[in-house]
Amino acid sequence: MKATEKTDTINNFLDYMTGSSRKENISRGVCIPAPIGCGGPAKEFSNERSRREYSIGGLCQKCQDSIFGGVVMDIREVVNQYWAIQADLKQWIKNELDPLLLECESSDDVSELKRQTGYQFGGDDSDYRLPSIVTVHFAIYSCRFIEKEEKERDPLGVDRIK
Ligand SMILES: [Zn+2]
Repeated sequence: MKATEKTDTINNFLDYMTGSSRKENISRGVCIPAPIGCGGPAKEFSNERSRREYSIGGLCQKCQDSIFGGVVMDIREVVNQYWAIQADLKQWIKNELDPLLLECESSDDVSELKRQTGYQFGGDDSDYRLPSIVTVHFAIYSCRFIEKEEKERDPLGVDRIK
């Protein structure tokens, strides 16, 4: 098999990382040496995708299976899934979280709502486990109140002058 063409920089980097020549391994039909690969023969593949993966990464079927759990991950699929989740979250924030946040009357209310929302995302008291987009949203509402509450407690900014 022929290795996919990569620029010299990438080739050199991969060779440096694996301690062997990727091009040479692939033309000889062997796996990357241990510890990354197994150094064994790489001639049989379960499908065209794994064969292609070998021409890119230089791992035999057995090593691909143990690294990717039998599934060669397509990074574009992961990225698409990520954006789909972000879109769902934005929709959820708009439809459900924002109306609740608008009902809050103090930063304590926001904190309590954040805690409850954390439970919905599978967290506990110490671990909110909120996606960052949701955390940022809470922070924005919280900041609004904190600024207002500080002014109420200290209307003339006396503490700040000291
Ligand atoms: Zn291997």
